[in-house]
Amino acid sequence: MTKMRTALFPGSFDPFTLGHLDILRSALTLFDKVIVAVGYNSAKSGFFPPELRVQIIRDAVAGLDNVEVCCYRGLTVDICRELGAGCIIRGLRTTTDFEMESVIAQANRKMAPDIQSIFIPSGHEYSFISSTVVRDVLNNGGSAKCFLPKNVDIDKYLALRLKED
Ligand code: ADP
Repeated sequence: MTKMRTALFPGSFDPFTLGHLDILRSALTLFDKVIVAVGYNSAKSGFFPPELRVQIIRDAVAGLDNVEVCCYRGLTVDICRELGAGCIIRGLRTTTDFEMESVIAQANRKMAPDIQSIFIPSGHEYSFISSTVVRDVLNNGGSAKCFLPKNVDIDKYLALRLKED
């Protein structure tokens, strides 16, 4: 039996944007399965709570095959082992992303030499999109729809977020 090639695409995804979706689509051309994993830290609440971030991603990836979504705490290499993922996918927009990502990748490689990090460059039309910009727009009452996957009803999640406060 051939081995399923599974990759983990970890991130804060607060929230998941068109840039993230672009990286996920590219990763799906390389792997049999990609798990989008929302990493969170209990000390840092974030803009959307992790469960809403997961729901937003589920809406965003509706219609895409071979994608799973989960959230995790702790080390990315540990969750890779737990879920049977041999690769970590990260997206690159700029040289600053590259510098930060290569440091993280070296540390992960030291801890888990059997898990490879793969960097995928963003499409030029998405390279300026970040969750930070989306949060700024939302915090100031603007429409962030042009940065978000079309299946995501962000107003619904903004209302749910306020309910949880
Ligand atoms: P983190 O806090 O772990 O960096 P993010 O949700 O900000 O989480 O990003 C997750 C991954 O997606 C990172 O590898 C980041 O570089 C990448 N990424 C974010 N936005 C884009 C984009 N517009 N194009 C390509 N990659 C992106």
